[in-house]
Amino acid sequence: MHLTEINGLPCYRSSRLGQFPEVAHGFFTRQGGESQGPYESLNLSFTVGDVPGRVAANRRRVEEALGLEGLASALQVHGRREAVIAHPQANLENEVPEVDILISRRPRLGLLIKQADCQAVMFYDPRRRVVANVHCGWRGNVQNILGEAVQALRARCRCRPEDLFAVIGPGLGPCCAEFRHFRREFPPELWSYQVRPTYFDLWRLSQEQLAAAGVPRDRIEVAGLCTRCHPQAFFSYRRDKVTGRQGAVIALI
Ligand SMILES: [Zn+2]
Repeated sequence: MHLTEINGLPCYRSSRLGQFPEVAHGFFTRQGGESQGPYESLNLSFTVGDVPGRVAANRRRVEEALGLEGLASALQVHGRREAVIAHPQANLENEVPEVDILISRRPRLGLLIKQADCQAVMFYDPRRRVVANVHCGWRGNVQNILGEAVQALRARCRCRPEDLFAVIGPGLGPCCAEFRHFRREFPPELWSYQVRPTYFDLWRLSQEQLAAAGVPRDRIEVAGLCTRCHPQAFFSYRRDKVTGRQGAVIALI
């Protein structure tokens, strides 16, 4: 994972996904947009109190940076439902309701996951030419949404888990992922991911859930960037409460 700039927008890119010229992707930071105040500046969420026109302009910047015809996004709900997307749905009124797994085979259509502590986890299957993007917070981990995403790719697009590449983007690190009520919130089988009292390694948990679903370990990449620890680079809900959402986007081109 390395920091770069695409058309003036700073973003982190995976070297594993970068080896495929038919894939465009970027884990964008909070920098390079038009929003102001707590949403400064590349906020991509319409539902956090920002001015809609600025969010729309920010989304256009991301589209242009990656050379896309449009973005598709969802009203993310920490569930485990998926949708196969065929058309851009970037306006708030068109966001796919109650979905946290986005899948596409359509070129130049960007799958956008909005996050500010939760992980965006991107998938690419070079054999079936399918991309997916998943919103995975701790509630997603508890529901094994990453295992569900692998199942959905298999059922909907005939992807084999062993063909998948998976990239876990920036999110809450083991430095900041405190769960004081973990006994109530996490099932006992996840308690072993505790790294010191009440702090959990959600990056390793996601890695293990991907591996358990059949994604080869040498095809799983972890950004290892904590959103709460980097206020210049990332929005963090835990840190700021009223704040924006950065975007992670993957597309076939
Ligand atoms: Zn941290």
